[in-house]
Amino acid sequence: MKKILIIHTGGTFGMTPVGRARTLKPGNLRTEINKFLPLINQIARIDIRIPFNLDSSDILPENWTEIYKIISDDMDAYDGFVIIHGTDTMVYTAAALSFLLGTVRKPVILTGAQRPLAELRSDAGNNLINAIELATFDIPEVAICFGNLLFRGTRTKKISIDDYNCFESPNYPPLATIGSKIHVNRSLLLQQASNVKLMPTYEKKIVCVRLFPGLKADLYYPLMTKNVTAIVLEGFGSGNLPMKDEQWIRFIKKAILDNIPVFIASQAYHGIIDLNQYVCGKLSKEAGAVATGDMTVETALVKLMLLFGNFQKREEIISYFSRSLAGELTQA
Ligand code: ASP
Repeated sequence: MKKILIIHTGGTFGMTPVGRARTLKPGNLRTEINKFLPLINQIARIDIRIPFNLDSSDILPENWTEIYKIISDDMDAYDGFVIIHGTDTMVYTAAALSFLLGTVRKPVILTGAQRPLAELRSDAGNNLINAIELATFDIPEVAICFGNLLFRGTRTKKISIDDYNCFESPNYPPLATIGSKIHVNRSLLLQQASNVKLMPTYEKKIVCVRLFPGLKADLYYPLMTKNVTAIVLEGFGSGNLPMKDEQWIRFIKKAILDNIPVFIASQAYHGIIDLNQYVCGKLSKEAGAVATGDMTVETALVKLMLLFGNFQKREEIISYFSRSLAGELTQA
């Protein structure tokens, strides 16, 4: 039998309702798994580790490091890893682990639940059983298993607050579908390990600004005096920013002059940024902004935190940013 390590980090999965309002709080997962899911022991030999038990909104990069260390220290002792995690920030953790474990060729499957394991009609049991089974397969990447689908960790977005299918992978097909049989699409799996080794050091002065009609660039100039390291502007469609009065172009130019790189993402989920498609994108490219391609904004932010945490030279960082390191980006 294969050996799987479950790392429980918190989230709705193991929470218990407290008080009249039945507000969810972290509960005792080990007892609940033994009570509700003894079946998992038929899939693999399982160990459970609980490094922390948090609502995932409270997860910090230091927690990513903790998970990363558990996995890398125990890499040879297990055939695969399952991480139980809150859905709210699961995609950030998945992206961080994908970059940090880039050279690792074992399955690391994140899962969670929309309804706690101990509640009626919970999706927790189904998700965990699927994740454990997939962790016994030859899937050499960090992935998210939820609602009978398996997605690449760096490509996934949370798209629903309470739907049982709350994740989507807008720019990459699911790696596997789970029905009465499990079908893994092997041609979609990462074919080779990344050759870029990133250490868990994060630059935390990365800022993301979501644009909307009427938003004034002036409000954001103080960022430059606060020593921010890089700015991501979430524009519209193919990466467009409002251009009529050129206030955002002046903003980009000033940031770049101050040695603060600017990256352009999109509020749209599907498709690839093309700064040449409209004048509203082209001017920002000419001003020196860099497109995030078809990366999710979440992955782009984690990638920037890691790249700026690992490298000094701006050109080197931008060149790595524009390359796919963990299958996060479609390259021309
Ligand atoms: N707030 C919870 C969390 O992310 C939601 C969930 O687990 O789905 O930890």
